[in-house]
Amino acid sequence: MLSAYFPGIRDTHGDTEVYVFEGEEAGGNLLILGGSHPNEPAGYVTAVMLVENIRVNRGKVFIIPRANRSGFSHSDPQEGNPQRFYVPTPAGPRVFRLGSRLTNPIDQWPDPAIYINPAGQKLSGNEVRNLNRCYPGRPNGYLTEKIAYAIMELIRQEHIDLGVDLHESAPEYPVINAIVFHENSAELAAMALMELQAEGYEIRLEASPANLRGLSHREWGDHAGIKAILLETPNASHGRLKGRPSSSLIVDGRDKFYERAAKLGWLFVPYGKEGIPLAQRVARHLAALRALLSSYAELEPDKAVDIASLPAAAEVQARGAGAFLHPPD
Ligand SMILES: [Zn+2]
Repeated sequence: MLSAYFPGIRDTHGDTEVYVFEGEEAGGNLLILGGSHPNEPAGYVTAVMLVENIRVNRGKVFIIPRANRSGFSHSDPQEGNPQRFYVPTPAGPRVFRLGSRLTNPIDQWPDPAIYINPAGQKLSGNEVRNLNRCYPGRPNGYLTEKIAYAIMELIRQEHIDLGVDLHESAPEYPVINAIVFHENSAELAAMALMELQAEGYEIRLEASPANLRGLSHREWGDHAGIKAILLETPNASHGRLKGRPSSSLIVDGRDKFYERAAKLGWLFVPYGKEGIPLAQRVARHLAALRALLSSYAELEPDKAVDIASLPAAAEVQARGAGAFLHPPD
Protein backbone atom coordinates (compact mmCIF):
# COMPACT_ATOMS: atom_id res chain seq x y z
CA MET A 1 0.00 0.00 0.00
CA LEU A 2 1.08 3.57 -0.61
CA SER A 3 0.99 4.20 3.16
CA ALA A 4 4.13 2.03 3.43
CA TYR A 5 5.95 5.13 2.14
CA PHE A 6 4.07 7.65 4.26
CA PRO A 7 2.07 6.37 7.26
CA GLY A 8 0.12 9.66 7.39
CA ILE A 9 -2.44 8.23 4.92
CA ARG A 10 -2.88 4.85 6.65
CA ASP A 11 -6.54 3.95 7.38
CA THR A 12 -7.80 6.74 5.11
CA HIS A 13 -9.50 6.51 1.70
CA GLY A 14 -6.34 8.10 0.34
CA ASP A 15 -4.35 4.90 0.86
CA THR A 16 -4.11 2.87 -2.32
CA GLU A 17 -2.55 -0.24 -3.84
CA VAL A 18 0.94 -0.14 -5.33
CA TYR A 19 1.81 -3.10 -7.58
CA VAL A 20 5.52 -3.86 -7.81
CA PHE A 21 7.18 -5.92 -10.54
CA GLU A 22 10.86 -6.67 -10.21
CA GLY A 23 13.02 -8.09 -12.98
CA GLU A 24 15.87 -10.50 -12.38
CA GLU A 25 18.28 -8.13 -14.09
CA ALA A 26 19.11 -4.78 -12.49
CA GLY A 27 17.93 -1.69 -14.37
CA GLY A 28 15.94 1.49 -13.87
CA ASN A 29 12.90 2.17 -11.72
CA LEU A 30 9.65 3.16 -13.41
CA LEU A 31 6.50 4.58 -11.79
CA ILE A 32 3.16 4.52 -13.64
CA LEU A 33 0.05 6.26 -12.29
CA GLY A 34 -3.52 5.72 -13.38
CA GLY A 35 -6.51 7.34 -11.70
CA SER A 36 -4.89 10.62 -10.72
CA HIS A 37 -8.22 11.76 -12.14
CA PRO A 38 -10.80 8.99 -11.64
CA ASN A 39 -13.04 10.40 -14.39
CA GLU A 40 -10.37 9.63 -17.04
CA PRO A 41 -10.94 5.92 -17.74
CA ALA A 42 -8.21 5.19 -20.31
CA GLY A 43 -5.58 6.12 -17.72
CA TYR A 44 -6.64 3.63 -15.08
CA VAL A 45 -7.85 0.91 -17.46
CA THR A 46 -4.34 0.98 -18.98
CA ALA A 47 -2.80 0.73 -15.50
CA VAL A 48 -5.05 -2.23 -14.60
CA MET A 49 -4.24 -3.90 -17.93
CA LEU A 50 -0.52 -3.55 -17.20
CA VAL A 51 -0.95 -5.07 -13.74
CA GLU A 52 -2.84 -8.02 -15.24
CA ASN A 53 -0.43 -8.70 -18.10
CA ILE A 54 3.16 -7.65 -17.65
CA ARG A 55 6.25 -9.44 -16.45
CA VAL A 56 9.42 -7.47 -15.93
CA ASN A 57 12.76 -8.81 -17.16
CA ARG A 58 14.87 -5.88 -16.18
CA GLY A 59 14.45 -3.04 -13.70
CA LYS A 60 11.58 -2.43 -11.35
CA VAL A 61 8.08 -1.20 -12.19
CA PHE A 62 5.67 0.40 -9.70
CA ILE A 63 2.05 0.79 -10.80
CA ILE A 64 -0.65 2.69 -8.90
CA PRO A 65 -3.93 2.18 -10.79
CA ARG A 66 -6.05 4.33 -8.45
CA ALA A 67 -3.74 7.17 -7.50
CA ASN A 68 -6.62 9.18 -6.00
CA ARG A 69 -8.64 6.29 -4.59
CA SER A 70 -11.02 8.61 -2.73
CA GLY A 71 -12.02 10.15 -6.08
CA PHE A 72 -13.34 6.76 -7.23
CA SER A 73 -15.95 6.74 -4.46
CA HIS A 74 -18.16 9.52 -5.86
CA SER A 75 -18.94 11.21 -9.15
CA ASP A 76 -18.98 14.84 -10.25
CA PRO A 77 -22.19 16.54 -9.11
CA GLN A 78 -24.73 17.62 -11.75
CA GLU A 79 -22.97 15.83 -14.60
CA GLY A 80 -25.36 12.88 -14.86
CA ASN A 81 -22.40 10.53 -15.23
CA PRO A 82 -22.87 6.80 -14.73
CA GLN A 83 -21.22 5.38 -11.60
CA ARG A 84 -19.83 2.46 -13.57
CA PHE A 85 -18.87 1.42 -17.05
CA TYR A 86 -18.67 -2.00 -18.62
CA VAL A 87 -15.78 -3.21 -20.73
CA PRO A 88 -16.74 -6.31 -22.72
CA THR A 89 -14.40 -9.29 -22.23
CA PRO A 90 -14.74 -12.78 -23.75
CA ALA A 91 -16.15 -13.94 -20.39
CA GLY A 92 -18.66 -11.12 -19.93
CA PRO A 93 -18.55 -7.44 -19.02
CA ARG A 94 -15.85 -6.23 -16.66
CA VAL A 95 -17.12 -3.48 -14.35
CA PHE A 96 -15.09 -0.34 -13.59
CA ARG A 97 -16.02 2.58 -11.38
CA LEU A 98 -16.21 6.03 -12.96
CA GLY A 99 -15.20 8.55 -10.33
CA SER A 100 -14.62 12.26 -10.04
CA ARG A 101 -11.67 14.44 -10.91
CA LEU A 102 -11.53 15.42 -7.23
CA THR A 103 -11.20 13.77 -3.82
CA ASN A 104 -14.57 12.90 -2.24
CA PRO A 105 -15.71 15.76 0.07
CA ILE A 106 -16.59 13.07 2.63
CA ASP A 107 -12.83 12.56 2.96
CA GLN A 108 -11.79 16.22 2.71
CA TRP A 109 -14.09 19.12 3.51
CA PRO A 110 -14.63 22.07 3.37
CA ASP A 111 -12.67 23.58 0.50
CA PRO A 112 -10.98 26.93 1.14
CA ALA A 113 -12.19 29.91 -0.92
CA ILE A 114 -8.75 30.18 -2.49
CA TYR A 115 -6.23 27.35 -2.48
CA ILE A 116 -2.52 28.08 -2.31
CA ASN A 117 -0.87 24.80 -3.19
CA PRO A 118 2.40 23.43 -1.77
CA ALA A 119 4.29 24.85 -4.77
CA GLY A 120 2.91 28.31 -4.00
CA GLN A 121 0.35 28.66 -6.80
CA LYS A 122 -2.97 30.37 -6.11
CA LEU A 123 -5.91 28.30 -7.41
CA SER A 124 -9.67 28.16 -7.03
CA GLY A 125 -10.75 26.49 -3.80
CA ASN A 126 -11.86 23.09 -5.10
CA GLU A 127 -8.44 22.43 -6.65
CA VAL A 128 -7.43 21.54 -3.09
CA ARG A 129 -8.99 18.14 -3.91
CA ASN A 130 -7.24 17.75 -7.28
CA LEU A 131 -4.29 15.39 -6.83
CA ASN A 132 -2.64 16.80 -9.92
CA ARG A 133 -2.48 20.28 -8.39
CA CYS A 134 -1.23 19.22 -4.95
CA TYR A 135 2.38 18.16 -5.65
CA PRO A 136 4.86 18.01 -4.03
CA GLY A 137 2.36 17.54 -1.23
CA ARG A 138 2.44 18.37 2.44
CA PRO A 139 2.89 15.78 5.20
CA ASN A 140 0.60 17.73 7.53
CA GLY A 141 -1.75 19.18 4.93
CA TYR A 142 -5.10 18.24 3.41
CA LEU A 143 -5.67 14.55 2.58
CA THR A 144 -5.03 15.14 -1.15
CA GLU A 145 -1.75 16.88 -0.28
CA LYS A 146 -0.82 13.91 1.89
CA ILE A 147 -1.49 11.51 -1.02
CA ALA A 148 0.76 13.68 -3.23
CA TYR A 149 3.38 13.66 -0.48
CA ALA A 150 3.15 9.85 -0.19
CA ILE A 151 3.73 9.52 -3.97
CA MET A 152 6.75 11.84 -3.65
CA GLU A 153 8.03 9.65 -0.80
CA LEU A 154 7.66 6.52 -2.97
CA ILE A 155 9.62 8.33 -5.72
CA ARG A 156 12.39 9.26 -3.26
CA GLN A 157 12.56 6.00 -1.30
CA GLU A 158 12.46 3.74 -4.38
CA HIS A 159 14.83 5.95 -6.40
CA ILE A 160 12.39 6.22 -9.28
CA ASP A 161 14.07 7.28 -12.55
CA LEU A 162 11.05 7.85 -14.78
CA GLY A 163 7.45 8.66 -13.85
CA VAL A 164 4.52 8.44 -16.26
CA ASP A 165 1.11 9.86 -15.28
CA LEU A 166 -1.79 8.58 -17.46
CA HIS A 167 -4.65 10.98 -18.17
CA GLU A 168 -7.43 11.84 -20.61
CA SER A 169 -9.00 15.12 -21.59
CA ALA A 170 -11.85 16.45 -23.69
CA PRO A 171 -11.50 16.56 -27.49
CA GLU A 172 -12.00 20.35 -27.45
CA TYR A 173 -9.07 20.82 -25.04
CA PRO A 174 -5.82 21.88 -26.75
CA VAL A 175 -3.49 19.61 -24.74
CA ILE A 176 -4.67 16.35 -26.27
CA ASN A 177 -3.03 13.36 -27.95
CA ALA A 178 0.01 14.79 -26.29
CA ILE A 179 3.16 13.97 -24.39
CA VAL A 180 3.61 16.61 -21.70
CA PHE A 181 7.19 16.63 -20.49
CA HIS A 182 9.33 18.26 -17.82
CA GLU A 183 12.26 20.09 -19.41
CA ASN A 184 14.64 17.47 -17.99
CA SER A 185 12.81 14.93 -20.19
CA ALA A 186 12.74 16.90 -23.47
CA GLU A 187 15.10 14.58 -25.33
CA LEU A 188 13.27 11.49 -24.10
CA ALA A 189 9.89 12.93 -25.13
CA ALA A 190 11.18 13.99 -28.55
CA MET A 191 12.64 10.56 -29.26
CA ALA A 192 9.43 8.84 -28.18
CA LEU A 193 7.44 11.26 -30.35
CA MET A 194 9.47 10.41 -33.45
CA GLU A 195 9.02 6.70 -32.78
CA LEU A 196 5.26 7.14 -32.40
CA GLN A 197 4.96 9.29 -35.51
CA ALA A 198 6.91 6.67 -37.47
CA GLU A 199 4.29 4.15 -36.31
CA GLY A 200 1.55 6.43 -37.64
CA TYR A 201 0.33 8.01 -34.40
CA GLU A 202 -0.70 11.65 -34.52
CA ILE A 203 0.76 12.95 -31.30
CA ARG A 204 2.53 16.09 -30.18
CA LEU A 205 4.79 17.47 -27.51
CA GLU A 206 3.80 19.95 -24.84
CA ALA A 207 6.47 21.42 -22.60
CA SER A 208 5.41 21.58 -18.96
CA PRO A 209 5.02 25.35 -18.33
CA ALA A 210 7.45 26.44 -15.60
CA ASN A 211 4.84 28.69 -13.98
CA LEU A 212 2.08 26.07 -13.82
CA ARG A 213 2.70 24.56 -10.40
CA GLY A 214 1.55 21.54 -8.44
CA LEU A 215 1.35 19.12 -11.39
CA SER A 216 3.12 15.78 -11.62
CA HIS A 217 5.07 16.69 -14.77
CA ARG A 218 6.37 19.82 -13.01
CA GLU A 219 6.98 18.88 -9.37
CA TRP A 220 8.23 15.30 -9.85
CA GLY A 221 11.03 16.75 -11.95
CA ASP A 222 11.65 19.85 -9.80
CA HIS A 223 11.51 18.17 -6.38
CA ALA A 224 12.73 14.63 -7.02
CA GLY A 225 14.80 15.16 -10.15
CA ILE A 226 13.14 12.28 -12.00
CA LYS A 227 12.16 12.28 -15.65
CA ALA A 228 8.48 13.21 -15.65
CA ILE A 229 5.93 12.60 -18.40
CA LEU A 230 2.15 13.02 -18.55
CA LEU A 231 0.11 11.45 -21.37
CA GLU A 232 -3.29 12.68 -22.59
CA THR A 233 -5.80 10.82 -24.77
CA PRO A 234 -9.11 12.25 -26.08
CA ASN A 235 -12.24 11.22 -24.19
CA ALA A 236 -15.64 12.43 -25.43
CA SER A 237 -17.41 11.49 -22.19
CA HIS A 238 -15.16 14.02 -20.45
CA GLY A 239 -16.08 17.00 -22.62
CA ARG A 240 -18.61 19.82 -22.48
CA LEU A 241 -20.05 19.20 -25.96
CA LYS A 242 -21.24 15.63 -25.38
CA GLY A 243 -24.76 14.28 -25.44
CA ARG A 244 -26.12 12.04 -22.68
CA PRO A 245 -23.33 10.46 -20.60
CA SER A 246 -23.34 6.66 -20.49
CA SER A 247 -21.15 3.61 -20.14
CA SER A 248 -21.20 3.13 -23.91
CA LEU A 249 -20.08 6.73 -24.49
CA ILE A 250 -17.02 5.92 -22.37
CA VAL A 251 -16.32 2.53 -23.95
CA ASP A 252 -17.41 3.04 -27.58
CA GLY A 253 -16.57 6.75 -27.58
CA ARG A 254 -19.17 7.66 -30.21
CA ASP A 255 -21.11 10.91 -29.92
CA LYS A 256 -23.02 12.71 -32.67
CA PHE A 257 -22.41 16.15 -31.14
CA TYR A 258 -18.65 15.64 -31.17
CA GLU A 259 -18.92 14.45 -34.74
CA ARG A 260 -20.61 17.74 -35.57
CA ALA A 261 -18.12 19.77 -33.53
CA ALA A 262 -15.30 18.16 -35.53
CA LYS A 263 -16.95 19.27 -38.77
CA LEU A 264 -17.18 22.81 -37.39
CA GLY A 265 -13.46 22.76 -36.61
CA TRP A 266 -13.93 23.05 -32.86
CA LEU A 267 -11.81 20.05 -31.84
CA PHE A 268 -8.12 19.42 -31.50
CA VAL A 269 -8.34 15.80 -32.69
CA PRO A 270 -10.01 14.13 -35.67
CA TYR A 271 -13.41 12.77 -34.63
CA GLY A 272 -15.60 10.84 -37.05
CA LYS A 273 -18.63 8.58 -36.99
CA GLU A 274 -16.59 5.76 -35.44
CA GLY A 275 -15.78 7.96 -32.43
CA ILE A 276 -12.69 7.39 -30.26
CA PRO A 277 -13.24 4.14 -28.38
CA LEU A 278 -11.63 3.24 -25.07
CA ALA A 279 -9.60 0.51 -26.82
CA GLN A 280 -8.01 3.13 -29.06
CA ARG A 281 -7.24 5.44 -26.13
CA VAL A 282 -5.71 2.60 -24.10
CA ALA A 283 -3.73 1.55 -27.19
CA ARG A 284 -2.33 5.08 -27.45
CA HIS A 285 -1.15 4.98 -23.83
CA LEU A 286 0.47 1.57 -24.41
CA ALA A 287 2.19 2.70 -27.62
CA ALA A 288 3.50 5.82 -25.90
CA LEU A 289 4.75 3.80 -22.94
CA ARG A 290 6.56 1.38 -25.23
CA ALA A 291 8.15 4.28 -27.16
CA LEU A 292 9.20 6.00 -23.92
CA LEU A 293 10.82 2.81 -22.61
CA SER A 294 12.74 2.10 -25.80
CA SER A 295 13.91 5.73 -26.00
CA TYR A 296 14.87 5.68 -22.33
CA ALA A 297 16.92 2.50 -22.91
CA GLU A 298 18.83 4.34 -25.65
CA LEU A 299 19.46 7.43 -23.50
CA GLU A 300 20.23 5.62 -20.23
CA PRO A 301 21.31 2.04 -21.08
CA ASP A 302 22.19 1.29 -17.45
CA LYS A 303 18.71 2.26 -16.31
CA ALA A 304 16.72 0.47 -19.00
CA VAL A 305 13.44 -1.12 -18.01
CA ASP A 306 12.48 -4.18 -20.01
CA ILE A 307 8.85 -5.24 -19.78
CA ALA A 308 7.79 -8.58 -21.26
CA SER A 309 4.24 -9.19 -22.48
CA LEU A 310 3.32 -5.52 -22.65
CA PRO A 311 0.06 -5.72 -24.62
CA ALA A 312 0.65 -4.57 -28.20
CA ALA A 313 -1.21 -1.36 -29.01
CA ALA A 314 -2.41 -2.54 -32.43
CA GLU A 315 -3.84 -5.73 -30.93
CA VAL A 316 -5.63 -3.87 -28.14
CA GLN A 317 -7.13 -1.54 -30.71
CA ALA A 318 -8.20 -4.43 -32.95
CA ARG A 319 -9.49 -6.86 -30.30
CA GLY A 320 -10.71 -4.41 -27.66
CA ALA A 321 -9.37 -3.65 -24.18
CA GLY A 322 -11.39 -6.51 -22.69
CA ALA A 323 -9.34 -9.11 -24.58
CA PHE A 324 -6.40 -8.12 -22.33
CA LEU A 325 -8.24 -7.93 -19.01
CA HIS A 326 -8.86 -10.73 -16.57
CA PRO A 327 -12.37 -12.17 -16.76
CA PRO A 328 -14.90 -10.63 -14.34
CA ASP A 329 -15.31 -12.39 -10.96
ZN1 LIG B 1 -6.37 14.40 -15.94
